[in-house]
Amino acid sequence: MQKPSNGLVIAIDGPAGSGKSTVSKRIAKALGILYIDTGAMYRALTLKAMRHHLDMNDAERLSELARSTEIELEEKSGELKVYLDGEEVSGLIRTPELTNNVKFIARVPGVRHEMVRLQRMAGELKSAVLEGRDIGTVVFPDADFKFYLDASVEERANRRFK
Ligand code: C5P
Repeated sequence: MQKPSNGLVIAIDGPAGSGKSTVSKRIAKALGILYIDTGAMYRALTLKAMRHHLDMNDAERLSELARSTEIELEEKSGELKVYLDGEEVSGLIRTPELTNNVKFIARVPGVRHEMVRLQRMAGELKSAVLEGRDIGTVVFPDADFKFYLDASVEERANRRFK
C-alpha cells in the first residue's frame, strides 16, 4: 500500500497493555492529526454481530456483515467517538463480554479485508496516527513512521488488571 501523497501516516503496533493507545493519542494530539483506534472498529462490528445473535463461527455471514456496516470514528472535545451505522456506541464496546468476542470477528479474513480497506481510506484522507495489529505490516507497510511498542508480561498484566 502506498502511503498517501499529501498526508503523514504513523503506524503503531504492539500487544494489549503495551501502552500503545496512550502513546498514539498523545502523538496525535501533539501533532494535531487524526487518531485512528482500529481496535474500536473491530469492537463496533462485534457489537453489531452480538446484537444480531450471529454465529461467531460463521465466517461468511460475518464478512457480509462487515461489508454492509458503516463504522466511523470522530474526535469530539478530545474524545474519540465511535459510530456504528450512525449510532454512537463508544460506551458500549468495552464490556468484558464484547472484549471476549472480538477475537472471533477479528480472525475472519473477509472481516479483516473490509476493516483494512476502511483503515486505508481513513489514513489516506488525512494525516493520522493509526494504532492496532497489522497496521505497520499489512495496512500501511509504507507508513512514514512505524513503532512497535512492548512492555514486560508483568507490566501488561498489571495495566490490564487496573
Ligand atoms: O485494541 P483493542 O483491544 O481495542 O482491540 C480489540 C481486538 O480487536 C484485539 O484484541 C484484536 O483481536 C482485534 N484487532 C485486530 N486488528 C487491529 C486492531 C484490533 O485484530 N488492527
